Amino acid sequence: MSNKIKVKNKIVEIDGDEMARIIWHIIKERLILPYLDIDIEYYDLGIKERDRTDDKITIESAEAIKKHRVGVKCATITPNSARVKEYSLKQQWKSPNGTIRSILDGTVFRKPIIIKNIPPAVRSWTKPIIIGRHAYGDIYKDVEILIEKPGKVELIFKPLDRGDEKTLLVHDFTGNGVILAMHNTEKSIRSFAKSCINYAISEKVDLWFGAKDTISKIYHGYFRDIFNEEIERVSDKFKQAGINYRYLLIDDAVAQVIKSQGGFLWACMNYDGDVMSDMVATGFGSLGLMTSVLVSPDGNYEYEAAHGTVVRHYYEYLKGNPTSTNSIASIFAWTGAIRKRGQLDETPEVVAFADKLEGAVIKTVENGIMTKDLMLIANPPVEKFACTEEFIDAVIETQNQR
Ligand code: NAP
Ligand code: MG
Repeated sequence: MSNKIKVKNKIVEIDGDEMARIIWHIIKERLILPYLDIDIEYYDLGIKERDRTDDKITIESAEAIKKHRVGVKCATITPNSARVKEYSLKQQWKSPNGTIRSILDGTVFRKPIIIKNIPPAVRSWTKPIIIGRHAYGDIYKDVEILIEKPGKVELIFKPLDRGDEKTLLVHDFTGNGVILAMHNTEKSIRSFAKSCINYAISEKVDLWFGAKDTISKIYHGYFRDIFNEEIERVSDKFKQAGINYRYLLIDDAVAQVIKSQGGFLWACMNYDGDVMSDMVATGFGSLGLMTSVLVSPDGNYEYEAAHGTVVRHYYEYLKGNPTSTNSIASIFAWTGAIRKRGQLDETPEVVAFADKLEGAVIKTVENGIMTKDLMLIANPPVEKFACTEEFIDAVIETQNQR
């Protein structure tokens, strides 16, 4: 009889590209499959397979996550024109993450992994700061005009029922200038608020939301009001979980974040999330320590590392040179999915496996064994860095000792 831990329901595995794919397979073969009896539904989103299937495989993988509720994804190439040439692609396929996100209608939460000897840039940050970014609308779906002669710009709303039209003067240009119009929808903002609330309750962390409603009384005020309404609906659950909601002006939020210890979810409007997630990721150390999960309002989860395919390392790998690629965020993508599966299936031994593997990873780094990206920022300093596979082998060793 096998002494592997039985995982009750399926996990959807989404394979990817380049160096991320290389480490992905090592993790799966050495850290996961020897210990878990697990039914994996596999989708290969490597660029060649997306090209061969005219990207249908991406849609199928998202549908599979909807069905089984838990997925784990390797980083994938989002092709630009250089990649179309490099891989002789039929066309410049869309971002798989974008496709999956729009099918699941999800919000992405990025959470850094905290390790004692990898100090954050901000001394007070002792707990993770999780960023939830609203990924629809605002300037990412705007329309813009370059104004090159004098003239008036007006904003007009024409109701479908031919009711009262509204016209506002935006600006009366006497010379050159620029203009943009942007929008958002109640549905999208509400889904975002709900996803953030679900995440905060499930992780038992406070929820912060910042906007500039003093200046943008209608647009930003609309976000603030929808968050307030959704929070009111769950006030009992927040009490039970012992967590709080805090609305702040966005500039105050930035100041409070820097002064804080961390340990909360920061819900950000689209642009704020784009900018702040890079700041927070860098502040916590390395991209190799940043995890990411897509949560849909109806409770489907897709885990991944926040970094890309680490292409420069891949080219070295192809030349047969040693690499030192950090596999921690990819390992945590697997453990995140496994833990969530265990929670949904109510199998504590599966949850415990995820906890134990994460503990072994952290212990390994705390013992001074780490890849080059971490070696450069470790304190106390370490003398040498581990190669890609050496690090994973060291994790296995740590795990077997515990
Ligand atoms: P990237 O793959 O994240 O790499 C950027 C740089 O960050 C690397 O060159 C490396 O720096 C460092 N780095 C990132 N992850 C690391 C790790 N695990 N260990 C050690 N160092 C790490 O981003 P990119 O170069 O912008 O994008 C490469 C490809 O990935 C693109 O085709 C892009 O479309 C794709 N991408 C996919 C996703 C996704 O699927 N979620 C996300 C982002 C990008 P050094 O080279 O200095 O060592
Ligand atoms: Mg950004």
